[in-house]
Amino acid sequence: MMEFDTIHYSKCPMCGMASSAAAGACSICGASGLAPWPAGAELPLDQRLTASGRLADAYALLQDQVSRVQQDAPSCVRLAWLAYAFEDMRAVEIWCHEASRLDGDSAEPHMLLGLEFQRSARWPEALEEYGAALRKPGLSTERHELLTRLSAECRGQMPEW
Ligand SMILES: [Zn+2]
Repeated sequence: MMEFDTIHYSKCPMCGMASSAAAGACSICGASGLAPWPAGAELPLDQRLTASGRLADAYALLQDQVSRVQQDAPSCVRLAWLAYAFEDMRAVEIWCHEASRLDGDSAEPHMLLGLEFQRSARWPEALEEYGAALRKPGLSTERHELLTRLSAECRGQMPEW
């Protein structure tokens, strides 16, 4: 069993993906303000691969787990974030829809789909996804503020109608 120490890892406040503690910004979504990985929290192998920059290996491992062992929403969201880093829009959509099917109360897949649409200047679709995310139960204050800010960005880009 390989020993590891979470002190070498940080966690992105935006996507929740692992980075090296030395990294200044998230390699998946580009967010700054990385926090130390919570002490005692689980750090799955795919996240350790992600933090080491081995994104393709992390993706392959997760895909294998999801198809054979354990199909859960957090794994699908991590696959979707990796696909976001690869700029593979079709895979982002597939994994976000799968995550939503597995956990209909999660805001995360809708937020990520919104970001993907926003990146492609598909403002109305992005706005729709952020709206869906904002209607989910149990949103943290930070998520609520973030989704509200992202929605305003999209509205600012849309022509008057
Ligand atoms: Zn991130």
